[in-house]
Amino acid sequence: MLEKLVRPAIRSFVPYQWELSSEEVARRFGFKLFEVLRFDTNTNPFLPVDFQAKLTDYATTIPNINEYGDSAYTELRHALAAYNRCEPEQVVIGAGADEIIDMVAKLFLNNGDKALTVAPTYPVYQIATELMGAQLLSLPRGNAPNFEVDIEKLAQTGLAENAKLIWLCNPNNPTASLVSLEAIERLLELVDGRLAVAIDEAYTEFSKVTALPLVAKYPNLIIIRTFSKAFSLAGARLGAALAQPEMAAWLNQVRPPNSVSNLSVYCGIQALQPAAIAEMQRRVSFILQEKERFIERLVPFCEEIYPSAANFVLARLGTLERSERLAEGLLAKGIVVRRPGSMPGHFRLTVRLPAENDRLIAALNGLS
Ligand code: PMP
Repeated sequence: MLEKLVRPAIRSFVPYQWELSSEEVARRFGFKLFEVLRFDTNTNPFLPVDFQAKLTDYATTIPNINEYGDSAYTELRHALAAYNRCEPEQVVIGAGADEIIDMVAKLFLNNGDKALTVAPTYPVYQIATELMGAQLLSLPRGNAPNFEVDIEKLAQTGLAENAKLIWLCNPNNPTASLVSLEAIERLLELVDGRLAVAIDEAYTEFSKVTALPLVAKYPNLIIIRTFSKAFSLAGARLGAALAQPEMAAWLNQVRPPNSVSNLSVYCGIQALQPAAIAEMQRRVSFILQEKERFIERLVPFCEEIYPSAANFVLARLGTLERSERLAEGLLAKGIVVRRPGSMPGHFRLTVRLPAENDRLIAALNGLS
């Protein structure tokens, strides 16, 4: 009965799949919550800069929680514009990059429309596309280790299929591979404004590559950013789109009016203070350095570890049977790794603090 009321696009829809929650791991295997170590979310092991010292400010200086905040997020947009050297009119705020992805899908995709991406990639593009009743076409990436994107083919297919939108994740989740700025510009030249191009730069602080300088030239370009990774604010749910003012205004047309809490807005403003940015950048350098050590220590357990432009690595463990056995064994030791659905037999592993990474290595040693 109810099913008949539900939109047809939703009936066969498969929602986003997470690994087990920390609460569930703790309950099943007898750990305290803080003992569970997550390598599956590509988040930052550090708390936000000065978070504990500022907790009282958080309670007293934000607009009171019994009131709505500024639904235009003016102060946060100004701070983000300063960080990105663009205008506040070019910044759109959302509850995480995921909500920005949702807004992009809402803005461009009608029932029956097509969007295009290169797989494997972040599954939320498919989810957002299908939720609109549209179809996501996927071109395959090139082979490991570089997972290259055929830009000519991407543009050609997008135009031939009459797609409204191309989703490109850069660096890509889960492959950690990077498309150059030159290649992105080539894509924008080839499509020549005939479809929208959304570049998801969730990991840009780690890759240090951004297509933002191209925004001035291409009105159909949207850059998607998040505070969840380098800025240590995954739980605050804060993301942004950067685009030309006209595109930003269209995105604001479909933006939920108040999806970001006062508290999260305040967290974002604090994260963009000059001293906090400098500290975030030091931490990014630290994590990138630790990534090299982490990879060296992982090598004996993996068949291959691919080059990474992000704060995570993709590792080939071998057969699905072996990777499942290891992942289950790690769960029993309170350690969660990501098994990307699109890459059976692989782990996607976040680079965490040295002692935490060593706990993973020790656990793998015990299971091998
Ligand atoms: N894009 C990519 C490529 C991601 O990996 C993630 C997080 N897993 C997101 C977007 C979602 O980020 P947010 O927490 O800001 O919604």
